[in-house]
Amino acid sequence: MAYKGLIDKYSSLLDLPAHTRPVSLLEGNTPLIPVDRLSQQLGEGFELLVKFEGLNPTGSFKDRGMTTAISEALGRGSKTVICASTGNTAASAAAYASRAGLKSIVLIPQGKVATGKLSGAIVYGAQVIQIDGSFDDALTMVVEISEKYPICLVNSINPYRIEGQKTGAFEICDTLDHAPDWLCLPVGNAGNITAYWAGFKQYDALYATGRPQILGVQAAGSAPLVLGHPVENPETVATAIRIGKPARGDEALETALESNGRIIAVSDDEILTMQKMLAQLEGLWVEPASAAGLAGLAHEISAGKFSLKGQRIVAICTGHGLKDPDIITNAMVKPQIIAAKLEALESVIQSSL
Ligand SMILES: *Cc1c(COP(=O)(O)O)cnc(C)c1O
Repeated sequence: MAYKGLIDKYSSLLDLPAHTRPVSLLEGNTPLIPVDRLSQQLGEGFELLVKFEGLNPTGSFKDRGMTTAISEALGRGSKTVICASTGNTAASAAAYASRAGLKSIVLIPQGKVATGKLSGAIVYGAQVIQIDGSFDDALTMVVEISEKYPICLVNSINPYRIEGQKTGAFEICDTLDHAPDWLCLPVGNAGNITAYWAGFKQYDALYATGRPQILGVQAAGSAPLVLGHPVENPETVATAIRIGKPARGDEALETALESNGRIIAVSDDEILTMQKMLAQLEGLWVEPASAAGLAGLAHEISAGKFSLKGQRIVAICTGHGLKDPDIITNAMVKPQIIAAKLEALESVIQSSL
């Protein structure tokens, strides 16, 4: 049967109101890719798989929750949707709003949004507004404005976002016939960790697929859940998780507790090192935030806090590397230029032969 998107595929498992009118870009159905060369670098005797969410229609997992949130908003008769975003939510909301014939307004923190995300929001036709403030300030503003005007809020405090994002867990269980032992993922506003846990619990209750332990990973410069208090000026190269007051922080902490997992922080260096390892060992280019889950796994392994033997571990790589090309090009040594002569080529490729 032809694939018609997540709402069609998992309709009986998603708690959506009857008025929902499905709007889909055939999101989801992303591959679970074995990364053996990477796992061998990290340790022995375990299996590591990456769920590559960068292959969603707008390049991040946000599309899973946006198909449901926009479908509900359309069915309810909303004309306009709004969100605060570090970038990927903006691009996804704008794309799905356009597909539904709705207007979208997105608020982003000034100067802190990666090129591929900002250009997405613009090309899909959103009204893009920069805030002289943080993501957290922007979120406060969109919550207030959506209470005052008939505008539908599509941040992950919208419960239908979580419904859609549960499908990531469903797909993993469908592919493996069982939940993995561990799930590693980045944590920003904490909607995704909340949704994965809800999804695994729901599937386990229905099909006895088991539940993973969850390793949630924040960036050290923006790690409110590790520090135990909000971070006023969060900083990290991983802009998608540059969030100081996670809206679903309590649920993330509960998930860690209930799943017998934990939430940890890693440095920007560890994140960028993992981004490079994934690209150079496996051919997978993910944006910095998306490498955080694996960076956290590597951190725990090297600290001796992980017994790997026989474990099956899935890491969620949340967004595509093409979203944030500047992080690579700003740091790169420019490719060398040679004369258009065979001898010149021969002399420079010697070390690769
Ligand atoms: C949104 C996002 C995150 C963080 O997800 P939360 O649900 O906010 O915790 C991580 N990585 C990428 C690429 C994202 O777009």
